[in-house]
This record gives sequence, structure tokens and C-alpha cells, in this order.
Amino acid sequence: MLQRKKQRTSRKISSDLFDGLPEDLVVSILCKLASSASCPSDFINVLLTCKRLNRLGLHPLVLSKAGPKALAVKARNWSDSAHRFLKHCVNAGNIEACYTLGMIRFYCLQNRGSGASLIAKAAIKTHAPALYSLAVIQFNGSGGSKNDKDLRAGVALCARAALLGHVDALRELGHCLQDGYGVRRNITEGRRLLVQANARELAWSLNSFVKRRPQQQHQRRVNYQHYTCMTGSGCPLLSDFGCNVPATEGHPVNVFLKEWFESGVGELGQGLRLCSHKGCGRPETRAHEFRRCSVCGMVNYCSRGCQALDWKLRHKVECGPMERWMQEGGNGDGGDGGAGVVEEVGDAENLVIE
Ligand SMILES: [Zn+2]
Ligand SMILES: [Zn+2]
Repeated sequence: MLQRKKQRTSRKISSDLFDGLPEDLVVSILCKLASSASCPSDFINVLLTCKRLNRLGLHPLVLSKAGPKALAVKARNWSDSAHRFLKHCVNAGNIEACYTLGMIRFYCLQNRGSGASLIAKAAIKTHAPALYSLAVIQFNGSGGSKNDKDLRAGVALCARAALLGHVDALRELGHCLQDGYGVRRNITEGRRLLVQANARELAWSLNSFVKRRPQQQHQRRVNYQHYTCMTGSGCPLLSDFGCNVPATEGHPVNVFLKEWFESGVGELGQGLRLCSHKGCGRPETRAHEFRRCSVCGMVNYCSRGCQALDWKLRHKVECGPMERWMQEGGNGDGGDGGAGVVEEVGDAENLVIE
């Protein structure tokens, strides 16, 4: 009895102390929390604690600071309130929320106009993933017809994202230059950009490895060894240079897209496919939008960057001409069979065996 009374008194004192804290101090603590939260629930749970924290947690200054991880809603948890929360963040001027909600509306909710304008809003504010995503939309004419492709605009957007240090954009630009796609061909410059993308990928990988605690490092090493055994190869393009590192983590919205379509929360339209690179999650917005591997015709990619990464990561051990698979009863060794050349479906439909 005495114990319970004591507890109640101490709770009362701490609540009085909390109520006495000046508003701007609480807001600045909440800003810090919103920007560093490792998942949405870290932040949302605080909003549910009491009326005062709920009111101050929804302060525009706090919402404008919410980082990618605080906004990383899981596709299976998507709801009107999650949508409303992202909208509040967008209204508070949060650029990351503009990009996240823009991608979700464009690809998942089929609201192309509003999605594209939200992505563009983030891109104008130099949000690198938004610039790169707009580039992919331009390269494919996503949301429109084949005639809406604008390769030069795609290259220009990629170049801006690459300047901001976006590795996928740098890689894409390197491939465009190497292939003369949307830009005058310059093999040396393209190669130089690809080396640069690989160096950044390596730096990112080493950096994230060093940041982990020793136990996690050990676990990651074990997982990675298991992974390399499973796939028979190391990861991305670095293997070109004798260096294997695990794949970099994608943007949370790519994880959302993938989960949205693969878990069945959302449905792909008839005849539409997801980009085959497992870290991408972008779906086609019309039939035959993505380019497919001309060797096996079994995989499709939204971009050259996704194709190159997936080739190194996985596809080179799976790819083989159909005829060879048939002859070998599906036990073909894959070979390099022309190294996964991807072709424009629209331009070479007749060459591909469906
Ligand atoms: Zn892709
Ligand atoms: Zn293939």
C-alpha cells in the first residue's frame, strides 16, 4: 500500500517536472528524436505517450525534421493514418516525406500526377534519390507511353543526382556514356564514372562495417560468407576490380515498393512486372516498359544500373539461352552467354522468344 502510494507520488512529481519544461526545449528534443529515429514506431510511440507530447510531436518543426527511417512505413502497415502522417510531414516542408509519398503515390497508388509532382518537389530541393527516380521515369516514359521517353532529360537528371553523390545515378550515367544512351558516347568517361561509383560503394560498405559493434560485425561476416556461398559470387560491380563487398542498403521506399507488390498488399496490373533487381522494387507502369535480358528473356530492368548490379549479384549464374536450358533439362551452368545484354523490348520485340 505504502509502496503504491510512493510510486504514485513520484509519478506525480515527474509529470509536474515534465509539464514545467519550456515548450521550445521539448520541441527541440522531439526534433532530434524525429531525425534520428531508427523506425517509425520510435517516433510514433512518443506521440502516444501523452497529450502534450502528441501536440508538440505534430509541430511542423518536428515533422519537417523526420528522417528517412522515421518515415519508413512498412507496406503491410499502410493505412489512412500512415498516409495522413506522411501528408502532415509533406505540409511541414519535409523533403524526404515528399519523395517517399511521391514514390508511393506514383507506383503503388497509381496516382501518377500527384506522385510525380511530389517527387519533382523533392528533386527541386536537390534531393538526390528524387532526381534519380525522375531520371528513371524519364528513361522509361513511366506513367505515359513509349513516346514519352525523354533520354536526354533522363541523363541530365542523372548527372545532377550523381553530382550530389548518388551512387546509382553515377553508375547509370557511366553506363549511358559507355553505351551512348541519351548522350554522346564516351567510353573512357563512362568507365571512369563506373570506377568512381565502385569506389563510393566500397567506402560506404567499409564505413557501415566499422560503425557496427563487434558482435554485429561477426554476424555480418558470417551472413556474408553464407551469402557468397549461396550465390557463388561476391557483390556488385566491385568484383570487376577484384573486390567483393556486400550490397549497399537501398532507400527505405524501395523496400516499401518491393514489399507492397511481393506481399500482395498491392497488385501489379495484368502483364506488368517488377524490376528484377531485388533492391529496386519499381514496377512497370505499362506492358513491356522495362528492358529485358536478351540472352534469357527472363528478367527485366528499369535501368542499366539495376541490370549491371543484378548481373553481378545474381543473374550471371542463372542466365542462359532458352535453347541451352531446354537441352540441358534446366541444369545449365549459365555461362556468360553474352553477359546479360539488355535490349529495348520496344525496339527488338521480334528477336525475343516469349
Ligand atoms: Zn530497377
Ligand atoms: Zn539473362
